[in-house]
Amino acid sequence: MRPFEYERPSELAQATSLLAEYGPEARPLAGGTDLIIRLRDGSLRPRVVVDMKGIDELDGDIRDDDGYLRFGALTTMTDIAADSRVRRDYPALAESALFVGSVQIRNRATLVGNMCNASPAADTAPALLAYGALIVATGPSGTRHLPLEEFFVRSGVTTLARGELVVAIELPRPTSSRGSVHLRRTRRRGHDLASVTLACAVTPDGKTRIAYGSVGPRPVLAIDDSGRLADPSLPDTDKAGLLDRLFAGASPSPTSMRASPEYRLAMLRVLGLRGVKAAIDRLASAQAP
Ligand SMILES: Cc1cc2nc3c(=O)[nH]c(=O)nc-3n(C[C@H](O)[C@H](O)[C@H](O)COP(=O)(O)OP(=O)(O)OC[C@H]3O[C@@H](n4cnc5c(N)ncnc54)[C@H](O)[C@@H]3O)c2cc1C
Repeated sequence: MRPFEYERPSELAQATSLLAEYGPEARPLAGGTDLIIRLRDGSLRPRVVVDMKGIDELDGDIRDDDGYLRFGALTTMTDIAADSRVRRDYPALAESALFVGSVQIRNRATLVGNMCNASPAADTAPALLAYGALIVATGPSGTRHLPLEEFFVRSGVTTLARGELVVAIELPRPTSSRGSVHLRRTRRRGHDLASVTLACAVTPDGKTRIAYGSVGPRPVLAIDDSGRLADPSLPDTDKAGLLDRLFAGASPSPTSMRASPEYRLAMLRVLGLRGVKAAIDRLASAQAP
């Protein structure tokens, strides 16, 4: 591991000014479950690591906030999977958080770190995309909110500007009943990164939001508002055709050791049909008297 300076600021302004000063040579540290491994294997060689756990303005709370459920920068996967509001209103997010690593990893791993790492395989990304998540970023020129689909560029790269930190993630509160689910495919049982991830959310107005990952350089969100995909009576063969159009953003790497592009695309179609069916069934249960 190359030596680096370790900073543990107590104020957000100190952290953002360090990040602005060092630019790409600085790395924020949250749970460290991605960062420490990359420091050890030398694939990241920052001059300074900025630990966020001592910053007064940051916390791990999950808060109801003016039409949003707000997750602090330090909210862990364990916090998310255990929260009754998340399990009730955002079950795909609770399910995806429970897939991450092991108990030990989930106790450290943050939701925000999962997004900022920008892995195409990040388990919680499809659910957050399907629910319309917003990233709240603060930097030297203030705070901005941006839709998660505008945050990812490619593996390891986001649209955060120099000096910016993610201080929270916000999910809009549901305005109607909704059926939603998270699914994933891995090479083997036990701890493994996903070969395909998919989340699907269906609402009574016939809108289907489907998000998928691990099949290209970044997770992708696609929306069907024709009402056809959400129609329980439409045959699977027709749904498969609709899904193929929504999956146009999939471009799996031919060099991955985890799965071939052909396998990933085939599994994406399988998970797509399963996800739509499960979301429709959950919507029907939610609407049952
Ligand atoms: C054994 C093991 C198993 C794993 N299994 C899974 C899995 O099944 N699914 C999965 O999705 N992931 C998995 N991971 C990856 C990892 O646990 C998650 O991505 C985790 O959510 C990262 O969060 P963290 O708080 O540990 O981030 P960190 O490691 O602290 O940071 C990750 C990256 O985000 C940046 N960052 C962190 N917080 C901020 C912020 N507030 N603003 C700006 N940048 C920030 C850091 O600089 C770093 O580049 C696994 C990791 C390990 C070691």
